[in-house]
Amino acid sequence: MAVMDSKKADATQASLHRIFTVPEAPDSTLGRIEKEISENLNAFLQTHIAAREKPLAEIEKDFSCADIPESPSFVSDHTHFLLDKLVAQSVHTSAPTFIGHMTSALPYFLMPLSKIMIGLNQNLVKIETSKAFTPLERQVLGMLHNLIYDEDERFYAQWMHSANHSLGAFCSGGTIANITALWVARNNALRPDGSFRGVAQEGLFRAMKHYGYEDLAVLVSERGHYSLKKAADVLGLGRDCLIPIQTDSDNRVCVDQMRAKLESLKQQNVRVFAIVGVAGTTETGNIDPLDALADLAAEYDCHFHVDAAWGGATLMSNKYRPLLKGIERADSVTIDAHKQLYVPMGAGMVIFKNPASMSAIEHHAEYILRKGSKDLGSHTLEGSRSGMAMLLYASLNIISRPGYEMLINNSIEKARYFSELIKAHPDFELVTEPELCLLTYRYLPARTQQALAISNTAQKELLLDALDDLTKFIQKRQRESGKSFVSRTRITPEKWDRKLTTVFRVVLANPLTTEAILQDVLEEQTQIAQESEKSYPLIMNMTESILANA
Ligand SMILES: *Cc1c(COP(=O)(O)O)cnc(C)c1O
Repeated sequence: MAVMDSKKADATQASLHRIFTVPEAPDSTLGRIEKEISENLNAFLQTHIAAREKPLAEIEKDFSCADIPESPSFVSDHTHFLLDKLVAQSVHTSAPTFIGHMTSALPYFLMPLSKIMIGLNQNLVKIETSKAFTPLERQVLGMLHNLIYDEDERFYAQWMHSANHSLGAFCSGGTIANITALWVARNNALRPDGSFRGVAQEGLFRAMKHYGYEDLAVLVSERGHYSLKKAADVLGLGRDCLIPIQTDSDNRVCVDQMRAKLESLKQQNVRVFAIVGVAGTTETGNIDPLDALADLAAEYDCHFHVDAAWGGATLMSNKYRPLLKGIERADSVTIDAHKQLYVPMGAGMVIFKNPASMSAIEHHAEYILRKGSKDLGSHTLEGSRSGMAMLLYASLNIISRPGYEMLINNSIEKARYFSELIKAHPDFELVTEPELCLLTYRYLPARTQQALAISNTAQKELLLDALDDLTKFIQKRQRESGKSFVSRTRITPEKWDRKLTTVFRVVLANPLTTEAILQDVLEEQTQIAQESEKSYPLIMNMTESILANA
């Protein structure tokens, strides 16, 4: 045994053996942390995450050494380092006052269940390394398929566990889900035909020669998520081939404009192989007219994909489900469980209406994923994957559909409450109404609103620019002071002639966020506004001079 009284341990066979066989003692640093986390996670986070932010440049200094340590650290020493330097400077995403993220608080039961998942360390790429986890994941995909498409029992009995079919793919998130959906769509559009063995085998260049298309394209609203651009890039289409279509004043894609684009591209011999509807845009939470898009997809023979990464969980609510009407006509749907299904990060899904769709990307190998095996890896972009589906499975059982409905309904209704609060406040402007639990707004003093109404073009321009600066200032200062957090984005409101406008963005998904918290957020923002030494006085002076000269 090495002597362990110095600050540094030695890398010995014995100490290595220990870390694989001897658990951390209950009174060790990690043992105590585990106890704190399981007894009161919120208190643990409250205690260990620093209230005030350190500048990123400062934090970087703690993570600046590129050497892999030549001698091991003791677990407790290293844990102290992590608590001080990492945990303390992380983000308290589950705080009820942090209302700017799409991911929020998690139910308690997921902590111990996650330990089981990590302890078992299954690999879902194949049955050999996952056994019962494979049917479990297939069942989860079936449950989500049922939520979207509502097929009968016979359908699921026939397809859920069928070796040569797949109702979808579980993956790390909405990005991989969207890439997978467009991958399937591309391969089905450029499928084997006569002597041509398909794009999957022969590549885009030969596929285009065979089919004689001038180009390929995918259409989506200008509010489409940036992951679709990555998809266009990795699938060899190029980002230009993801064509943004204008949205209306409610941030929903203009169907007429999409139709016009489909028609003109068809005239140019450009094959639009997919159109994407967004069900819950990331910036404003609005839902495209999915039924009308399904009609277009049928008319122009395109794959219809719905990106419901964030909004898809709304299907759990019988009350608000009709907002997503038409989603049941989609060929594929993306849903992130790590957003509104309250599962930890790393849980995305793409679900396909037709159990045969995914054969377009099927991949077999000799040592695993043999033909006819039920290995999930034959239909996924990713290879090795964790047993994350277990956490969603447990949540679906423990929370149940009506439980999720309550969570979803409460979030939407809380967003409506907040929007009323903003509208009733003389010094704020609601920029986008919440359709789901997401809204945008900004600080806009009452007198400045009056001034804007009568200002000339140049004055308006100046005022709006200063307001953008002020919104940025308030959002940053609020985040830095650590009490509460809203996010910020830039959108093009109809009301301001589609000028790019900086707004606060709020997502009300945390069930622990109260009405009082929302009132405090506005109050804090009002106060911070006046602390701005540049934009606030500028706005006030301009406002008064415009009003005085009116
Ligand atoms: C979050 C989101 C994505 C991307 O999902 P990740 O899990 O971050 O990869 C895609 N589309 C929409 C609409 C989203 O909200």
